[in-house]
Amino acid sequence: MGFFSNAFSKQTCVFCNNEVGALSRKKLVDKNYICKECEKNCSAFLDPARFDTEYIKQHMEYMKKQDILYKKEFEPIDKKQKDRFVKEGYYGVEFADEIAMFEVIDPKANKRNYKELFRYDQIKDYEIYTKENMSTEGGKKYAEVGVKIKMSCQIGPSSAGMSDEEKKHAHPYVEELNILCARNVDNTSDTSLLIGHLNKIFGRGSDTVFGSIKESIVGTEHERQGYKAGADALKALGSMAKAKMSGDENAEEEAKEKMEQAVDSSFAFVSENRTTYARIADDAEKRAWGE
Ligand SMILES: [Zn+2]
Repeated sequence: MGFFSNAFSKQTCVFCNNEVGALSRKKLVDKNYICKECEKNCSAFLDPARFDTEYIKQHMEYMKKQDILYKKEFEPIDKKQKDRFVKEGYYGVEFADEIAMFEVIDPKANKRNYKELFRYDQIKDYEIYTKENMSTEGGKKYAEVGVKIKMSCQIGPSSAGMSDEEKKHAHPYVEELNILCARNVDNTSDTSLLIGHLNKIFGRGSDTVFGSIKESIVGTEHERQGYKAGADALKALGSMAKAKMSGDENAEEEAKEKMEQAVDSSFAFVSENRTTYARIADDAEKRAWGE
């Protein structure tokens, strides 16, 4: 009696007060329920069962703001200015360098009421993932291959050692995004375009043959930035010394400014452009939300 009365008893959704049957509801950590319709106001990349009512309420506000951001800043950007990687027709990523954000294209996200974007500066790392083919019936080696994008996230195990400042800039609920690139294949070559583009964004070396030949001649983007950062710092130090010796206040001011620029470019170098991307994304958010 106990089991049936609990599992099949009528409950109400804590957000809309409608009755929710056993199959169309999810239980939050504070034991309240959310119905299927209200879940559409949440991100497709969030599992409500991990959070309480108050968090989900805040999350729905977050999603409303994301939707505004998407419509004001992402949608109007010309297609040619965006980099779209979509495989299997439905899964992929679309990058917009102009605002340093990307959209994850996934059928489950299409069914949601609000669009959302992810920021470049919140990407911590990325790697190829594979799922072995378990069937014995002459299938290819992998059932699925794709790219795992790991995010700096305010929750979960990786948030443990984060400073308050780092948490403020981390994503509120997504730890990783699995971007499917191909199904039923023998190798991971279908991931190379997306990995290559992420390498470009973060100035990392490429692992393709063509990429490594090119890099052996001109250096990676990351190396080039490193040279620039070093040269800028040296130049700035030189001007500072000269200004000090000459006692010219204007020159000293100018030298200080150069020094700050040098610090900026060194910082962009060690952070793989994340400081630059953070600034670009912050500006886009400010424009969209009028803050
Ligand atoms: Zn509801």
